[in-house]
Amino acid sequence: MTIPMDLQPAGPGPAKIGRRGLMLVLSSPSGAGKTTIARRMLQRNSSLTMSVSVTTRPPRPGEVDGVDYHFIDHAAFERMVVDKQLLEHARVFGNYYGTPRAPVELALSKGREILFDIDWQGTQQLAENARDDLVSIFVLPPSSKELERRLHTRAQDSVEVIAGRMAKAADEMSHYFDYEYVIVNYDVENSVHQVQSILEAERLKRRRQIGLSDFVRQLQEGA
Ligand code: 5GP
Repeated sequence: MTIPMDLQPAGPGPAKIGRRGLMLVLSSPSGAGKTTIARRMLQRNSSLTMSVSVTTRPPRPGEVDGVDYHFIDHAAFERMVVDKQLLEHARVFGNYYGTPRAPVELALSKGREILFDIDWQGTQQLAENARDDLVSIFVLPPSSKELERRLHTRAQDSVEVIAGRMAKAADEMSHYFDYEYVIVNYDVENSVHQVQSILEAERLKRRRQIGLSDFVRQLQEGA
C-alpha cells in the first residue's frame, strides 16, 4: 500500500513532497455499477471527495438534496451557466446537469482528489479545459442483459424510464473511446481494485508531485 504524501513521516530526510490533486471521472451507461464503485472508492480514500452536481431533475426516492445532487430549477441552472459557476454542464435524458466550479478548484489546490459521476459530454468539456488534472475511466457492463437486470433491481425508475435508459445505453457506450481507461464491471470488488490501482498510479505521475526537484537535490546533498 502507498503511504499518502500527507502522511509521509516527519524527521530526518529531505523536505516533504506535496501534490496537486486530480479529477477522477467515472462514466458509464446507467446501471453499469459506477455508483457502487464510486461509493467504495470514497470509503477507501480519505483524500477523495465526491463532486456534487447541480441538476434540474427531480429527486428520486431516497435521494438527499446537497448529498446526491443539489436539486435546482431551470432559472437557477441558467444563472449558474451565465455566471460561469459551472466547470462543465450538459443535457442528459432531458434534464440539465452541471459541476459547480468552486469546490473543485479548492480541492485541487489543496492536493485533494475529486470523484465525478458525469457523462461523456461533461468529460469532453473537462478534457478541453483541464486535461492535465483529468483521469477518465469508462465503466462497461458485462452484457446488456445484465445492464437491464441491474436497472430493474435498482427499482428507482419507472418501466418507461428504464426502457429509455436501455435505448440510450448503446449510444452512450460508443463514447468509451474518449476515455483513457476502460473497465468491464464483471465483479464490483475487482472493479474497485482496478480503479484504486489507476488512482495510485496517477498520483505518482511526475507532474502531480510538487517539490520533487528540491527533494532530489536535498538527497544529492546528503539529506
Ligand atoms: P442520474 O439522473 O441517473 O443521476 O444521472 C444521469 C446521467 O447524468 C448519468 O450518466 C450521470 O453520470 C450524468 N451526470 C450527473 N451529474 C452530471 C454533471 O454534473 N455533468 C454531466 N455532464 N453529467 C452528469
